Amino acid sequence: MVQEYDIIVIGGGITGAGVARDASMRGLKTLLVERHDLTDGATGRNHGLLHSGARYAVTDSESASECIRENMILRRIASHCVEQTDGLFITLPEDDLGYQATFIESCRKAGINAFAIDPKEAIRLEPSVNKSLIGAVRVPDGAVDPFRLTVANVVDAQLHGAEVLTYKQVTSILKDDSGRVTGIEVTDFHTKQQKKYYSKIVINAAGIWGHGIAQMAGAQVNMFPAKGALLIFGHRVNNMVLNRCRKPADADILVPGDTICLIGTTSSRVPFEEVDNMNVTPQEVEVLMREGEKLAPSLASTRILRAYAGVRPLVAADNDPSGRSISRGIVCLDHETRDGIPGFISITGGKLMTYRLMAEWAVDLACKKLGVDRKCETAEVCLPGSSSTPQEQPRVGTTIGQRAARGRHGERTSQISLSSDTDRSIVCECEEVSVGEVNYAIEKLGVTGLVDMRRRTRVGMGTCQGELCACRAAGLLAKADGCAQKAISNVAEFLNERWKGIRPIAWGETLCEAQFTSWIYEGVCGLGTPQEK
Ligand SMILES: Cc1cc2nc3c(=O)[nH]c(=O)nc-3n(C[C@H](O)[C@H](O)[C@H](O)COP(=O)(O)OP(=O)(O)OC[C@H]3O[C@@H](n4cnc5c(N)ncnc54)[C@H](O)[C@@H]3O)c2cc1C
Repeated sequence: MVQEYDIIVIGGGITGAGVARDASMRGLKTLLVERHDLTDGATGRNHGLLHSGARYAVTDSESASECIRENMILRRIASHCVEQTDGLFITLPEDDLGYQATFIESCRKAGINAFAIDPKEAIRLEPSVNKSLIGAVRVPDGAVDPFRLTVANVVDAQLHGAEVLTYKQVTSILKDDSGRVTGIEVTDFHTKQQKKYYSKIVINAAGIWGHGIAQMAGAQVNMFPAKGALLIFGHRVNNMVLNRCRKPADADILVPGDTICLIGTTSSRVPFEEVDNMNVTPQEVEVLMREGEKLAPSLASTRILRAYAGVRPLVAADNDPSGRSISRGIVCLDHETRDGIPGFISITGGKLMTYRLMAEWAVDLACKKLGVDRKCETAEVCLPGSSSTPQEQPRVGTTIGQRAARGRHGERTSQISLSSDTDRSIVCECEEVSVGEVNYAIEKLGVTGLVDMRRRTRVGMGTCQGELCACRAAGLLAKADGCAQKAISNVAEFLNERWKGIRPIAWGETLCEAQFTSWIYEGVCGLGTPQEK
Protein backbone atom coordinates (compact mmCIF):
# COMPACT_ATOMS: atom_id res chain seq x y z
CA MET A 1 0.00 0.00 0.00
CA VAL A 2 1.41 3.41 -1.02
CA GLN A 3 0.84 6.29 1.36
CA GLU A 4 0.33 8.95 -1.27
CA TYR A 5 -0.36 11.75 1.16
CA ASP A 6 0.79 12.85 4.60
CA ILE A 7 -2.68 14.12 5.37
CA ILE A 8 -6.16 13.62 3.96
CA VAL A 9 -8.70 16.21 5.12
CA ILE A 10 -12.39 15.29 4.94
CA GLY A 11 -14.79 18.24 4.46
CA GLY A 12 -14.59 21.34 2.29
CA GLY A 13 -16.13 23.76 4.78
CA ILE A 14 -14.07 26.50 6.38
CA THR A 15 -12.47 24.09 8.88
CA GLY A 16 -11.27 21.63 6.22
CA ALA A 17 -10.11 24.50 4.00
CA GLY A 18 -8.16 26.01 6.90
CA VAL A 19 -6.59 22.64 7.79
CA ALA A 20 -5.56 22.05 4.15
CA ARG A 21 -3.96 25.51 4.00
CA ASP A 22 -2.09 25.12 7.28
CA ALA A 23 -0.89 21.58 6.51
CA SER A 24 0.33 22.43 3.01
CA MET A 25 2.08 25.58 4.28
CA ARG A 26 4.00 23.34 6.69
CA GLY A 27 5.18 21.24 3.75
CA LEU A 28 2.82 18.29 4.28
CA LYS A 29 1.50 16.53 1.18
CA THR A 30 -2.21 17.18 1.54
CA LEU A 31 -5.46 16.06 -0.08
CA LEU A 32 -8.79 17.82 0.67
CA VAL A 33 -11.97 15.88 -0.13
CA GLU A 34 -15.49 17.36 -0.24
CA ARG A 35 -18.65 15.42 -1.12
CA HIS A 36 -20.39 18.35 -2.88
CA ASP A 37 -19.02 21.85 -3.52
CA LEU A 38 -16.88 23.85 -1.08
CA THR A 39 -19.00 25.58 1.63
CA ASP A 40 -21.97 23.27 1.07
CA GLY A 41 -22.40 22.67 4.84
CA ALA A 42 -22.74 25.10 7.76
CA THR A 43 -20.05 27.32 6.25
CA GLY A 44 -22.40 28.37 3.45
CA ARG A 45 -25.42 28.67 5.75
CA ASN A 46 -24.48 30.99 8.57
CA HIS A 47 -24.72 34.61 9.62
CA GLY A 48 -21.32 35.77 8.44
CA LEU A 49 -20.79 37.57 11.73
CA LEU A 50 -17.16 38.34 12.53
CA HIS A 51 -17.80 37.94 16.24
CA SER A 52 -15.93 40.21 18.57
CA GLY A 53 -16.74 37.53 21.16
CA ALA A 54 -19.12 39.90 22.97
CA ARG A 55 -22.08 37.59 22.34
CA TYR A 56 -20.41 34.88 24.41
CA ALA A 57 -18.64 37.08 26.96
CA VAL A 58 -21.13 36.46 29.79
CA THR A 59 -21.94 32.79 29.11
CA ASP A 60 -18.78 31.32 27.53
CA SER A 61 -15.67 33.36 28.32
CA GLU A 62 -13.26 30.90 26.66
CA SER A 63 -15.05 31.21 23.30
CA ALA A 64 -15.24 34.97 23.73
CA SER A 65 -11.45 35.23 24.18
CA GLU A 66 -10.83 32.95 21.18
CA CYS A 67 -13.19 35.06 19.06
CA ILE A 68 -11.54 38.41 19.78
CA ARG A 69 -8.04 37.05 19.15
CA GLU A 70 -9.10 35.51 15.82
CA ASN A 71 -11.17 38.62 14.95
CA MET A 72 -8.00 40.71 15.04
CA ILE A 73 -6.06 38.13 13.00
CA LEU A 74 -8.74 37.82 10.30
CA ARG A 75 -8.94 41.60 9.87
CA ARG A 76 -5.24 41.41 8.95
CA ILE A 77 -4.87 38.18 6.95
CA ALA A 78 -8.29 38.12 5.26
CA SER A 79 -8.97 41.79 4.62
CA HIS A 80 -10.84 41.17 1.35
CA CYS A 81 -13.27 38.82 3.15
CA VAL A 82 -13.94 41.09 6.14
CA GLU A 83 -15.98 44.27 6.57
CA GLN A 84 -14.88 46.23 9.63
CA THR A 85 -18.34 47.52 10.51
CA ASP A 86 -18.23 47.42 14.33
CA GLY A 87 -21.38 46.48 16.19
CA LEU A 88 -23.92 47.74 18.69
CA PHE A 89 -25.50 45.74 21.52
CA ILE A 90 -28.73 47.59 22.19
CA THR A 91 -31.07 47.48 25.17
CA LEU A 92 -34.79 47.95 24.39
CA PRO A 93 -37.42 49.00 26.94
CA GLU A 94 -38.49 45.34 27.37
CA ASP A 95 -34.88 44.31 28.27
CA ASP A 96 -33.07 44.58 31.61
CA LEU A 97 -30.71 47.59 31.44
CA GLY A 98 -28.90 46.13 34.49
CA TYR A 99 -27.46 43.42 32.19
CA GLN A 100 -25.37 46.04 30.39
CA ALA A 101 -22.86 46.47 33.24
CA THR A 102 -22.33 42.68 33.57
CA PHE A 103 -21.95 42.49 29.79
CA ILE A 104 -19.32 45.23 29.57
CA GLU A 105 -17.39 43.82 32.53
CA SER A 106 -17.36 40.30 30.98
CA CYS A 107 -16.26 41.70 27.60
CA ARG A 108 -13.36 43.53 29.21
CA LYS A 109 -12.27 40.37 31.05
CA ALA A 110 -12.19 38.54 27.68
CA GLY A 111 -10.12 41.35 26.14
CA ILE A 112 -12.96 42.86 24.07
CA ASN A 113 -13.05 46.62 23.74
CA ALA A 114 -16.71 47.21 24.68
CA PHE A 115 -17.97 50.58 25.89
CA ALA A 116 -21.36 52.13 26.54
CA ILE A 117 -22.44 54.98 24.31
CA ASP A 118 -25.35 57.37 24.55
CA PRO A 119 -28.48 56.01 22.77
CA LYS A 120 -28.59 59.26 20.72
CA GLU A 121 -25.03 58.59 19.55
CA ALA A 122 -26.07 55.03 18.65
CA ILE A 123 -28.88 56.43 16.45
CA ARG A 124 -26.43 58.83 14.82
CA LEU A 125 -23.96 56.00 14.10
CA GLU A 126 -26.62 53.55 12.90
CA PRO A 127 -29.80 55.34 11.75
CA SER A 128 -31.67 52.06 11.13
CA VAL A 129 -31.59 51.09 14.83
CA ASN A 130 -34.82 51.00 16.86
CA LYS A 131 -35.11 54.57 18.16
CA SER A 132 -36.76 53.48 21.39
CA LEU A 133 -33.49 51.96 22.63
CA ILE A 134 -32.53 52.78 26.20
CA GLY A 135 -28.90 51.62 26.11
CA ALA A 136 -26.12 50.82 23.63
CA VAL A 137 -22.66 49.27 23.80
CA ARG A 138 -20.16 49.54 20.94
CA VAL A 139 -18.02 46.46 20.17
CA PRO A 140 -15.55 45.43 17.42
CA ASP A 141 -17.97 43.05 15.61
CA GLY A 142 -17.80 42.87 11.82
CA ALA A 143 -18.98 40.90 8.81
CA VAL A 144 -17.09 38.09 7.11
CA ASP A 145 -17.91 36.46 3.77
CA PRO A 146 -17.70 32.70 4.38
CA PHE A 147 -17.57 31.82 0.67
CA ARG A 148 -14.64 34.13 -0.05
CA LEU A 149 -12.80 33.07 3.09
CA THR A 150 -13.10 29.36 2.29
CA VAL A 151 -12.10 29.76 -1.35
CA ALA A 152 -9.10 31.92 -0.40
CA ASN A 153 -7.90 29.19 2.00
CA VAL A 154 -8.36 26.51 -0.66
CA VAL A 155 -6.58 28.59 -3.31
CA ASP A 156 -3.64 29.09 -0.93
CA ALA A 157 -3.56 25.39 -0.07
CA GLN A 158 -3.36 24.61 -3.80
CA LEU A 159 -0.63 27.21 -4.28
CA HIS A 160 1.29 25.27 -1.59
CA GLY A 161 0.82 21.97 -3.42
CA ALA A 162 -2.41 20.60 -1.90
CA GLU A 163 -4.79 18.65 -4.11
CA VAL A 164 -8.53 19.29 -3.85
CA LEU A 165 -11.34 16.92 -4.86
CA THR A 166 -14.92 18.16 -4.88
CA TYR A 167 -18.04 16.04 -5.53
CA LYS A 168 -16.29 13.02 -3.97
CA GLN A 169 -18.02 11.56 -0.93
CA VAL A 170 -16.02 9.63 1.66
CA THR A 171 -17.87 6.33 2.02
CA SER A 172 -15.41 4.41 4.19
CA ILE A 173 -12.34 4.89 6.33
CA LEU A 174 -9.60 2.39 5.54
CA LYS A 175 -7.61 0.65 8.28
CA ASP A 176 -4.76 -1.83 8.33
CA ASP A 177 -4.67 -5.07 10.34
CA SER A 178 -3.41 -3.24 13.44
CA GLY A 179 -6.43 -0.89 13.42
CA ARG A 180 -4.46 2.13 12.19
CA VAL A 181 -6.34 4.43 9.80
CA THR A 182 -4.57 4.37 6.44
CA GLY A 183 -6.86 6.28 4.09
CA ILE A 184 -10.34 6.71 2.66
CA GLU A 185 -12.60 5.34 -0.02
CA VAL A 186 -14.62 7.88 -1.99
CA THR A 187 -17.58 7.67 -4.36
CA ASP A 188 -17.80 10.16 -7.22
CA PHE A 189 -21.06 12.15 -6.95
CA HIS A 190 -21.66 12.12 -10.72
CA THR A 191 -20.18 8.83 -12.01
CA LYS A 192 -20.64 6.79 -8.78
CA GLN A 193 -17.16 5.34 -9.35
CA GLN A 194 -15.18 4.42 -6.24
CA LYS A 195 -11.53 5.08 -5.51
CA LYS A 196 -9.16 4.68 -2.57
CA TYR A 197 -6.64 7.25 -1.33
CA TYR A 198 -3.97 6.51 1.28
CA SER A 199 -2.34 8.78 3.85
CA LYS A 200 -0.45 8.71 7.13
CA ILE A 201 -3.15 10.71 8.90
CA VAL A 202 -6.84 11.37 8.15
CA ILE A 203 -8.35 14.53 9.62
CA ASN A 204 -12.13 14.55 10.01
CA ALA A 205 -13.33 18.14 9.43
CA ALA A 206 -16.81 17.19 8.21
CA GLY A 207 -18.79 19.46 10.54
CA ILE A 208 -22.01 17.86 11.77
CA TRP A 209 -21.37 14.94 9.35
CA GLY A 210 -18.15 14.33 11.30
CA HIS A 211 -20.33 12.25 13.63
CA GLY A 212 -20.86 9.72 10.81
CA ILE A 213 -17.24 9.90 9.63
CA ALA A 214 -16.06 9.11 13.19
CA GLN A 215 -18.45 6.15 13.28
CA MET A 216 -16.94 4.86 10.01
CA ALA A 217 -13.58 4.81 11.82
CA GLY A 218 -15.10 3.11 14.87
CA ALA A 219 -15.24 6.18 17.16
CA GLN A 220 -18.18 7.89 18.85
CA VAL A 221 -18.34 11.70 19.01
CA ASN A 222 -21.26 13.08 21.01
CA MET A 223 -22.40 15.68 18.49
CA PHE A 224 -25.42 17.89 18.96
CA PRO A 225 -27.04 19.01 15.67
CA ALA A 226 -28.37 22.51 16.39
CA LYS A 227 -30.40 23.97 13.51
CA GLY A 228 -30.41 27.71 12.99
CA ALA A 229 -32.70 29.55 10.52
CA LEU A 230 -32.02 32.96 8.95
CA LEU A 231 -33.70 35.46 6.61
CA ILE A 232 -31.92 37.51 3.94
CA PHE A 233 -33.32 40.96 3.15
CA GLY A 234 -33.01 42.50 -0.30
CA HIS A 235 -31.27 45.65 0.92
CA ARG A 236 -28.56 46.52 3.36
CA VAL A 237 -30.61 48.43 5.94
CA ASN A 238 -27.79 48.60 8.53
CA ASN A 239 -24.09 49.30 8.24
CA MET A 240 -23.14 48.25 11.78
CA VAL A 241 -23.95 44.81 13.18
CA LEU A 242 -26.97 45.10 15.51
CA ASN A 243 -27.33 42.76 18.50
CA ARG A 244 -29.62 42.67 21.54
CA CYS A 245 -27.83 43.23 24.85
CA ARG A 246 -29.19 40.21 26.69
CA LYS A 247 -28.37 36.51 27.02
CA PRO A 248 -28.18 35.00 23.48
CA ALA A 249 -31.71 34.30 22.22
CA ASP A 250 -33.63 33.84 18.96
CA ALA A 251 -33.27 36.37 16.14
CA ASP A 252 -31.17 38.90 17.98
CA ILE A 253 -28.42 39.61 15.43
CA LEU A 254 -28.75 41.68 12.23
CA VAL A 255 -25.60 41.48 10.10
CA PRO A 256 -24.91 43.60 6.99
CA GLY A 257 -23.06 41.88 4.15
CA ASP A 258 -22.35 43.15 0.64
CA THR A 259 -25.69 44.35 -0.77
CA ILE A 260 -27.98 42.65 1.77
CA CYS A 261 -28.53 42.10 5.49
CA LEU A 262 -29.32 38.94 7.45
CA ILE A 263 -31.42 38.38 10.55
CA GLY A 264 -30.86 35.29 12.66
CA THR A 265 -30.95 32.97 14.16
CA THR A 266 -33.14 30.37 15.80
CA SER A 267 -31.72 27.34 17.60
CA SER A 268 -33.30 23.90 17.88
CA ARG A 269 -31.99 20.35 18.08
CA VAL A 270 -32.75 18.28 14.97
CA PRO A 271 -32.39 14.53 14.37
CA PHE A 272 -29.28 13.45 12.42
CA GLU A 273 -31.55 12.04 9.70
CA GLU A 274 -32.68 15.60 8.89
CA VAL A 275 -29.37 17.43 8.65
CA ASP A 276 -29.22 16.99 4.86
CA ASN A 277 -32.66 18.47 4.37
CA MET A 278 -33.11 21.67 6.33
CA ASN A 279 -36.41 23.46 5.72
CA VAL A 280 -37.33 26.78 7.31
CA THR A 281 -40.75 26.58 8.97
CA PRO A 282 -43.45 29.31 9.01
CA GLN A 283 -42.95 29.58 12.80
CA GLU A 284 -39.24 30.28 12.32
CA VAL A 285 -39.99 32.94 9.69
CA GLU A 286 -42.46 34.57 12.07
CA VAL A 287 -39.98 34.68 14.99
CA LEU A 288 -37.21 36.06 12.78
CA MET A 289 -39.44 38.82 11.40
CA ARG A 290 -40.96 39.73 14.75
CA GLU A 291 -37.65 39.97 16.58
CA GLY A 292 -35.79 41.47 13.61
CA GLU A 293 -38.18 44.40 13.41
CA LYS A 294 -37.39 45.17 17.05
CA LEU A 295 -33.73 45.70 16.14
CA ALA A 296 -34.38 47.69 12.94
CA PRO A 297 -38.05 48.65 12.39
CA SER A 298 -37.49 49.32 8.68
CA LEU A 299 -37.18 45.55 8.16
CA ALA A 300 -41.00 45.49 8.34
CA SER A 301 -41.15 47.18 4.92
CA THR A 302 -38.01 45.64 3.42
CA ARG A 303 -38.41 42.81 0.96
CA ILE A 304 -37.23 39.39 2.15
CA LEU A 305 -35.12 37.64 -0.48
CA ARG A 306 -34.90 34.15 0.94
CA ALA A 307 -34.81 31.94 4.03
CA TYR A 308 -32.29 29.26 4.81
CA ALA A 309 -31.02 27.12 7.65
CA GLY A 310 -27.80 25.42 8.68
CA VAL A 311 -26.73 22.99 11.37
CA ARG A 312 -24.06 23.97 13.88
CA PRO A 313 -21.47 21.26 14.50
CA LEU A 314 -21.59 21.44 18.29
CA VAL A 315 -20.14 18.79 20.57
CA ALA A 316 -21.61 17.90 23.94
CA ALA A 317 -19.26 16.70 26.67
CA ASP A 318 -18.89 12.90 26.71
CA ASN A 319 -20.78 12.81 30.03
CA ASP A 320 -23.54 15.16 28.82
CA PRO A 321 -25.79 13.42 26.30
CA SER A 322 -28.50 16.09 26.74
CA GLY A 323 -26.13 18.75 25.40
CA ARG A 324 -27.00 21.25 28.15
CA SER A 325 -23.36 22.17 28.79
CA ILE A 326 -22.50 22.89 25.15
CA SER A 327 -19.84 25.51 24.50
CA ARG A 328 -18.89 27.15 21.20
CA GLY A 329 -15.30 26.18 22.00
CA ILE A 330 -13.01 24.16 19.75
CA VAL A 331 -12.97 20.36 20.00
CA CYS A 332 -9.83 18.60 18.71
CA LEU A 333 -9.93 14.84 19.27
CA ASP A 334 -6.88 12.60 19.11
CA HIS A 335 -8.59 9.27 18.41
CA GLU A 336 -5.32 7.41 19.05
CA THR A 337 -5.28 8.34 22.75
CA ARG A 338 -9.06 8.64 23.12
CA ASP A 339 -10.28 5.54 21.26
CA GLY A 340 -7.16 3.55 20.37
CA ILE A 341 -7.45 4.46 16.64
CA PRO A 342 -4.04 5.71 15.41
CA GLY A 343 -3.89 7.91 12.31
CA PHE A 344 -7.25 9.59 12.91
CA ILE A 345 -8.03 13.11 14.23
CA SER A 346 -11.37 14.98 14.44
CA ILE A 347 -11.57 18.78 14.52
CA THR A 348 -14.98 20.30 15.13
CA GLY A 349 -17.07 22.61 17.35
CA GLY A 350 -15.81 26.20 17.26
CA LYS A 351 -17.11 28.77 14.82
CA LEU A 352 -16.51 30.06 11.34
CA MET A 353 -14.35 32.77 12.76
CA THR A 354 -12.20 30.49 14.89
CA TYR A 355 -11.48 28.17 11.92
CA ARG A 356 -7.81 29.23 11.68
CA LEU A 357 -7.12 28.33 15.30
CA MET A 358 -9.02 25.04 14.86
CA ALA A 359 -6.80 24.23 11.89
CA GLU A 360 -3.68 25.16 13.87
CA TRP A 361 -4.62 22.78 16.70
CA ALA A 362 -5.37 19.90 14.32
CA VAL A 363 -2.21 20.37 12.24
CA ASP A 364 -0.04 20.82 15.38
CA LEU A 365 -1.31 17.43 16.54
CA ALA A 366 -0.74 15.85 13.13
CA CYS A 367 2.81 17.28 12.95
CA LYS A 368 3.58 15.89 16.41
CA LYS A 369 2.50 12.44 15.26
CA LEU A 370 4.44 12.72 11.99
CA GLY A 371 7.55 14.07 13.73
CA VAL A 372 7.44 17.25 11.65
CA ASP A 373 8.88 20.36 13.30
CA ARG A 374 7.30 23.21 11.33
CA LYS A 375 5.53 26.11 13.05
CA CYS A 376 2.12 27.38 12.04
CA GLU A 377 2.34 30.61 10.02
CA THR A 378 -1.32 31.14 9.14
CA ALA A 379 -1.77 33.97 11.63
CA GLU A 380 0.95 36.02 9.92
CA VAL A 381 0.75 35.19 6.21
CA CYS A 382 -2.11 36.93 4.37
CA LEU A 383 -4.53 34.95 2.24
CA PRO A 384 -4.44 35.28 -1.55
CA GLY A 385 -6.56 38.34 -2.31
CA SER A 386 -5.61 40.05 0.95
CA SER A 387 -1.86 40.27 0.42
CA SER A 388 -1.85 44.00 -0.29
CA THR A 389 -3.47 46.58 1.93
CA PRO A 390 -6.56 48.41 0.64
CA GLN A 391 -4.36 51.54 0.43
CA GLU A 392 -1.95 49.75 -1.91
CA GLN A 393 -4.75 48.70 -4.28
CA PRO A 394 -6.08 51.02 -6.97
CA ARG A 395 -9.21 52.48 -5.37
CA VAL A 396 -11.44 52.42 -8.43
CA GLY A 397 -11.39 50.30 -11.53
CA THR A 398 -12.49 51.39 -14.95
CA THR A 399 -15.84 49.58 -14.81
CA ILE A 400 -18.53 48.90 -12.23
CA GLY A 401 -17.87 45.16 -12.57
CA GLN A 402 -14.17 45.71 -11.88
CA ARG A 403 -14.89 47.63 -8.68
CA ALA A 404 -17.32 44.96 -7.47
CA ALA A 405 -14.86 42.18 -8.35
CA ARG A 406 -12.13 43.91 -6.35
CA GLY A 407 -14.34 43.59 -3.28
CA ARG A 408 -14.79 39.89 -3.98
CA HIS A 409 -11.29 38.82 -5.04
CA GLY A 410 -9.02 41.49 -3.56
CA GLU A 411 -5.76 41.98 -5.43
CA ARG A 412 -6.38 38.79 -7.42
CA THR A 413 -8.83 40.86 -9.48
CA SER A 414 -5.80 41.64 -11.63
CA GLN A 415 -6.06 38.04 -12.94
CA ILE A 416 -9.55 38.73 -14.32
CA SER A 417 -9.48 39.55 -18.01
CA LEU A 418 -11.43 42.74 -18.66
CA SER A 419 -9.71 43.75 -21.87
CA SER A 420 -12.55 43.30 -24.37
CA ASP A 421 -16.09 44.72 -24.48
CA THR A 422 -17.39 41.18 -24.04
CA ASP A 423 -15.24 40.60 -20.93
CA ARG A 424 -16.56 43.82 -19.43
CA SER A 425 -20.23 43.17 -20.18
CA ILE A 426 -22.39 42.36 -17.20
CA VAL A 427 -23.79 38.88 -16.50
CA CYS A 428 -25.50 39.64 -13.17
CA GLU A 429 -26.78 43.21 -12.80
CA CYS A 430 -27.82 42.85 -9.15
CA GLU A 431 -24.29 41.93 -8.04
CA GLU A 432 -22.36 43.55 -10.92
CA VAL A 433 -20.61 40.38 -12.07
CA SER A 434 -18.90 40.64 -15.46
CA VAL A 435 -18.25 38.02 -18.14
CA GLY A 436 -14.54 38.26 -17.28
CA GLU A 437 -15.22 37.44 -13.62
CA VAL A 438 -17.44 34.48 -14.53
CA ASN A 439 -14.73 33.13 -16.84
CA TYR A 440 -12.11 33.64 -14.10
CA ALA A 441 -14.25 31.61 -11.68
CA ILE A 442 -14.61 28.80 -14.24
CA GLU A 443 -10.89 28.71 -15.07
CA LYS A 444 -9.28 29.40 -11.68
CA LEU A 445 -11.76 28.70 -8.88
CA GLY A 446 -12.93 25.16 -9.65
CA VAL A 447 -16.47 26.09 -10.71
CA THR A 448 -18.34 23.21 -12.34
CA GLY A 449 -21.95 24.43 -12.22
CA LEU A 450 -24.15 27.46 -11.54
CA VAL A 451 -24.53 26.67 -7.84
CA ASP A 452 -20.72 26.73 -7.43
CA MET A 453 -20.61 29.89 -9.57
CA ARG A 454 -22.99 31.67 -7.19
CA ARG A 455 -20.72 30.89 -4.24
CA ARG A 456 -17.56 32.17 -5.99
CA THR A 457 -18.97 35.32 -7.61
CA ARG A 458 -22.43 36.15 -6.15
CA VAL A 459 -24.10 35.51 -9.54
CA GLY A 460 -27.80 35.05 -8.72
CA MET A 461 -27.53 36.15 -5.09
CA GLY A 462 -29.15 39.54 -5.65
CA THR A 463 -32.68 40.88 -5.73
CA CYS A 464 -33.82 38.92 -8.80
CA GLN A 465 -32.40 35.62 -7.46
CA GLY A 466 -31.06 34.52 -10.83
CA GLU A 467 -34.03 35.60 -12.94
CA LEU A 468 -31.92 37.42 -15.52
CA CYS A 469 -28.40 36.11 -14.98
CA ALA A 470 -28.86 32.34 -14.68
CA CYS A 471 -29.19 31.76 -18.43
CA ARG A 472 -26.27 34.07 -19.26
CA ALA A 473 -23.95 32.42 -16.74
CA ALA A 474 -25.08 28.96 -17.89
CA GLY A 475 -24.25 29.97 -21.47
CA LEU A 476 -20.70 30.86 -20.44
CA LEU A 477 -20.34 27.57 -18.57
CA ALA A 478 -21.62 25.66 -21.60
CA LYS A 479 -19.15 27.51 -23.83
CA ALA A 480 -16.29 26.61 -21.47
CA ASP A 481 -17.03 22.88 -21.46
CA GLY A 482 -18.68 22.66 -24.87
CA CYS A 483 -21.91 21.06 -23.68
CA ALA A 484 -25.18 22.94 -24.19
CA GLN A 485 -27.25 20.11 -22.69
CA LYS A 486 -25.34 20.50 -19.41
CA ALA A 487 -26.28 24.20 -19.37
CA ILE A 488 -29.98 23.30 -19.38
CA SER A 489 -29.68 20.91 -16.44
CA ASN A 490 -27.47 23.48 -14.72
CA VAL A 491 -30.13 26.20 -14.98
CA ALA A 492 -32.84 23.83 -13.77
CA GLU A 493 -30.75 22.74 -10.75
CA PHE A 494 -29.86 26.34 -9.95
CA LEU A 495 -33.44 27.65 -10.15
CA ASN A 496 -34.77 24.76 -8.07
CA GLU A 497 -32.15 25.51 -5.44
CA ARG A 498 -33.10 29.22 -5.47
CA TRP A 499 -36.80 28.28 -5.12
CA LYS A 500 -36.08 26.27 -1.94
CA GLY A 501 -34.99 29.49 -0.24
CA ILE A 502 -37.84 31.58 -1.69
CA ARG A 503 -40.64 29.15 -0.84
CA PRO A 504 -40.85 29.86 2.94
CA ILE A 505 -41.22 33.60 2.27
CA ALA A 506 -43.15 33.46 -1.02
CA TRP A 507 -45.78 36.15 -0.74
CA GLY A 508 -46.33 39.64 -2.20
CA GLU A 509 -43.67 40.96 -4.56
CA THR A 510 -41.38 37.99 -3.93
CA LEU A 511 -44.04 35.54 -5.12
CA CYS A 512 -44.77 37.74 -8.18
CA GLU A 513 -41.09 37.77 -9.08
CA ALA A 514 -40.78 34.00 -8.58
CA GLN A 515 -43.76 33.47 -10.89
CA PHE A 516 -42.23 35.81 -13.45
CA THR A 517 -38.95 33.85 -13.29
CA SER A 518 -40.81 30.60 -13.75
CA TRP A 519 -42.70 32.10 -16.73
CA ILE A 520 -39.43 33.23 -18.35
CA TYR A 521 -37.68 29.90 -17.96
CA GLU A 522 -40.63 27.55 -18.54
CA GLY A 523 -42.68 29.62 -20.94
CA VAL A 524 -40.01 31.35 -23.02
CA CYS A 525 -36.94 29.10 -22.64
CA GLY A 526 -38.87 25.82 -22.50
CA LEU A 527 -37.16 24.63 -19.33
CA GLY A 528 -39.05 21.78 -17.71
CA THR A 529 -40.40 20.43 -21.01
CA PRO A 530 -38.76 17.18 -22.22
CA GLN A 531 -35.60 17.90 -24.27
CA GLU A 532 -35.07 16.30 -27.69
CA LYS A 533 -32.33 13.70 -27.64
C1 LIG B 1 -27.41 29.23 11.52
C2 LIG B 1 -25.94 29.36 11.82
C3 LIG B 1 -25.37 30.61 12.03
C4 LIG B 1 -24.01 30.72 12.32
N1 LIG B 1 -23.46 31.96 12.43
C5 LIG B 1 -22.13 32.09 12.59
C6 LIG B 1 -21.53 33.36 12.58
O1 LIG B 1 -22.20 34.36 12.36
N2 LIG B 1 -20.19 33.46 12.80
C7 LIG B 1 -19.42 32.35 13.02
O2 LIG B 1 -18.23 32.52 13.26
N3 LIG B 1 -19.95 31.11 13.00
C8 LIG B 1 -21.28 30.96 12.77
N4 LIG B 1 -21.85 29.71 12.71
C9 LIG B 1 -20.99 28.54 12.91
C10 LIG B 1 -20.23 28.19 11.63
O3 LIG B 1 -21.07 28.27 10.49
C11 LIG B 1 -19.68 26.78 11.73
O4 LIG B 1 -19.03 26.60 12.96
C12 LIG B 1 -18.67 26.49 10.62
O5 LIG B 1 -19.15 26.90 9.37
C13 LIG B 1 -18.37 25.00 10.58
O6 LIG B 1 -17.50 24.76 9.51
P1 LIG B 1 -17.00 23.28 9.22
O7 LIG B 1 -16.10 23.36 8.06
O8 LIG B 1 -16.48 22.70 10.48
O9 LIG B 1 -18.33 22.48 8.86
P2 LIG B 1 -19.18 22.52 7.50
O10 LIG B 1 -19.18 23.86 6.90
O11 LIG B 1 -20.49 21.93 7.81
O12 LIG B 1 -18.34 21.62 6.52
C14 LIG B 1 -18.35 20.22 6.57
C15 LIG B 1 -18.20 19.74 5.14
O13 LIG B 1 -18.01 18.34 5.15
C16 LIG B 1 -18.63 17.83 3.99
N5 LIG B 1 -18.86 16.41 4.15
C17 LIG B 1 -19.80 15.82 4.93
N6 LIG B 1 -19.75 14.50 4.80
C18 LIG B 1 -18.76 14.23 3.91
C19 LIG B 1 -18.24 13.04 3.35
N7 LIG B 1 -18.74 11.84 3.69
N8 LIG B 1 -17.25 13.13 2.43
C20 LIG B 1 -16.72 14.33 2.08
N9 LIG B 1 -17.19 15.49 2.59
C21 LIG B 1 -18.19 15.45 3.50
C22 LIG B 1 -19.92 18.63 3.90
O14 LIG B 1 -20.48 18.59 2.58
C23 LIG B 1 -19.45 20.01 4.31
O15 LIG B 1 -19.12 20.82 3.20
C24 LIG B 1 -23.21 29.56 12.43
C25 LIG B 1 -23.77 28.30 12.20
C26 LIG B 1 -25.12 28.19 11.88
C27 LIG B 1 -25.70 26.85 11.58
